Amino acid sequence: MIPFIDLQAQRQNISTEINAAIENVLAHGQYIMGPQVGELEKQLSNFCGVKHSISCGNGTDALQLALMALDIGPGDAVFAPSFTFVATVEAVLLMGATPVFVDVDEETFNICPTSLAEAIEMITAQGDLKPRAIIPVDLFGQPAAYRQIEEIATAHSLAIVADAAQSFGASLNNKNVGRMGDIVTTSFFPAKPLGCYGDGGALFTGDDDLATRLRSLRNHGQGTDRYDNVNLGLNSRLDTIQAAILIEKLKIFPSEIDARKKIAQYYHTNLPSSLRPQKLMEGATSVWAQYTVVGENRDQIRDRLAADDIPTAVYYPKPNHLQAPYQGAPCAPKGLPVTEHLQERVFSLPMHPYLDEELQGKILEALTRAVS
Ligand SMILES: *Cc1c(COP(=O)(O)O)cnc(C)c1O
Repeated sequence: MIPFIDLQAQRQNISTEINAAIENVLAHGQYIMGPQVGELEKQLSNFCGVKHSISCGNGTDALQLALMALDIGPGDAVFAPSFTFVATVEAVLLMGATPVFVDVDEETFNICPTSLAEAIEMITAQGDLKPRAIIPVDLFGQPAAYRQIEEIATAHSLAIVADAAQSFGASLNNKNVGRMGDIVTTSFFPAKPLGCYGDGGALFTGDDDLATRLRSLRNHGQGTDRYDNVNLGLNSRLDTIQAAILIEKLKIFPSEIDARKKIAQYYHTNLPSSLRPQKLMEGATSVWAQYTVVGENRDQIRDRLAADDIPTAVYYPKPNHLQAPYQGAPCAPKGLPVTEHLQERVFSLPMHPYLDEELQGKILEALTRAVS
């Protein structure tokens, strides 16, 4: 079976640099908050063009830290898509707030501004919960419709926490996703476009006060020194070794993004006509964390591809509003028909920067046979 995501190909490419970077950390021994952590944060800020980067333990903690920094808790409503990885809404529930599930757009798969506006009006009219924040998700690497979302957020005085776990490196209207909304969260989980060799995450913000709070919150609510605790916080720091690895990976990341775009373009051009790919919004660039298509008879197509040694994956087979911990949570007034439609029809093809054209040709040939 060919790999769905080939992390070893990347490792072979830069193993000397990565081994040296790890050796360097082992030599100085500052495993927690060593110099590479600050250095990486500086480089992430430069990369995104954002004032503050705050690294943390993982992308799920990043979301929770964002909600903590915004003082979101019991009685608060946080609007988010159901068609996303569970972590997006897990953080909301962990904070004691109520997730309100919003439907997604049929073509981009990202949060639907119309469904969002209707959900906010419904919660406002009911009067039990206080609308506080929106968590748009940049699904599969494509930025959400931030222009429309920002208008809605401004009209209702809501904060925006952008879940960019899958989209680090993408942009919308020439603006890097690191600069969307009030706080942006991302993940360096190994399989994300920019991944480390373990868990890792980061937050981005242009707001000085939020940045100060986030730096404190990720480190036990620390104040002026280690034994001064001004906030209720978490232990969620990025390991120095992971920061050192990320510094090396960031160097080749722009060329990896270019490779992903080329591979996505090749899929687009040669896809059988019965399959519909995720549509890229005008003005958006994607980092193609996943290349996802919609098709009837998905399971049959996937079985046939598997018989030809072509792996595929389904993100996400069961939307969050149907998962046990979230079943009582409110949904947008017209329900989530697009989410439920997509959940039964989407599947993702192998995607990583080291997928060569020969292999891609093989995948497309098998796919053409599988749909016929
Ligand atoms: C991966 C992911 C997360 C969580 O990131 P972790 O680093 O695995 O905790 C959150 N949201 C989305 C959309 C993700 O894909």
